[in-house]
Amino acid sequence: MSAKIIDGKATAQELKNEIKIEVDKITSGGSRPPALAVVLVGKDPASQIYVNNKRKACHALGIKSVEHLLDAATSEKNLMELVTALNNDNDIDGILVQLPLPKHIHEPHILEHINPLKDVDGFHPVNVGRLVANSTGLRPCTPAGILEMLKRSGQELSGKKVVVLGRSNIVGKPTATLLLHESCTVTICHSKTRHLNDITSRADIIIAAIGKPEFVTAEMVKPGAVVIDVGVNRTAKGVVGDVDFEGVKKVAGFISPVPGGVGPMTIAMLMYNTLKAYKGLSPSGH
Ligand code: NAP
Repeated sequence: MSAKIIDGKATAQELKNEIKIEVDKITSGGSRPPALAVVLVGKDPASQIYVNNKRKACHALGIKSVEHLLDAATSEKNLMELVTALNNDNDIDGILVQLPLPKHIHEPHILEHINPLKDVDGFHPVNVGRLVANSTGLRPCTPAGILEMLKRSGQELSGKKVVVLGRSNIVGKPTATLLLHESCTVTICHSKTRHLNDITSRADIIIAAIGKPEFVTAEMVKPGAVVIDVGVNRTAKGVVGDVDFEGVKKVAGFISPVPGGVGPMTIAMLMYNTLKAYKGLSPSGH
């Protein structure tokens, strides 16, 4: 048996096409387009690539992209002032401060200063609370992208046994929470989990988000299971995920590749959140 591929790139394109239709409708009616402000402090190469990709996605969809590129030595006070200005700017719908920030800036101070209605990364404690409470709010992009991929590939989620590998605030925990709201029975595993293979091999769906190259092997996967690979690991043989793709695709029913899986969905969900912030949550009231 060979698993069906869950093509994140194609799914992301499908979602972006839907967003573009909505943005075109907005602008053809004479309103300003949704606008995303991206703040990058310093010149971390990976962050620069992410910011470039976000800019390209905005341009392709007609979303306005405003970039603030700050020196690595920028003080926390200056960054706070910029966030205040963006919070107060009625022509900005979404604010994204690219992480990681330089060591002298306390990340939670900055993230908690962003207006939750413009928090398109979904990291503000208000949005974390809304996620847990399953009430309206902006959801973090990678977990929301994973859920969208599962749904659009036709997976029935209610009642399914899900194992999430990883308990980070940006991937593991919010993904587990979203799937709990879909009525899955969710187990979260981490570095102290014992008998991991026994747990994963009973799962209908495995979400691998641990940051360890090709960690999930065929023996850990139940035949026919759905495997979503979140990992992005730079190795000598290029970028690989947390799943041994070649081995696991022989037993799984569905599998998402790296690259071309969760990564493109994350950017598409950022565009979705920017549109959502514009439509429902923008203080300018259009
Ligand atoms: P992270 O903050 O480093 O968290 C990793 C998690 O994996 C931790 O909870 C850790 O457990 C757990 N873990 C480590 N070794 C383990 C093991 N042997 N068995 C079980 N669990 C183990 O990483 P992250 O930010 O969540 O990211 C995870 C991966 O996803 C990375 O490769 C990252 O690059 C990728 N990622 C991709 C996207 C995308 O858009 N495609 C977005 C975000 C992240 P402890 O808590 O016990 O330490």
